[in-house]
Amino acid sequence: MGAPTTFCDFCDKPASQVGSIIVGNRFEGGNRAVAICSECVDLCVEIFKERALAATTEKERDQ
Ligand SMILES: [Zn+2]
Repeated sequence: MGAPTTFCDFCDKPASQVGSIIVGNRFEGGNRAVAICSECVDLCVEIFKERALAATTEKERDQ
């Protein structure tokens, strides 16, 4: 028996399919913490960049 497969909580893909998964260290009700894969992290980074850009653009417009 090997280690149980970790699935990304955001896209539900197994670690074997996405390469790398990071598991948070926060436990809720005895369940394991949320996990996120490298693909979803990339997506999140893009979203953060867009939001930061949008926030900057908004600020410039207000001035
Ligand atoms: Zn994912």
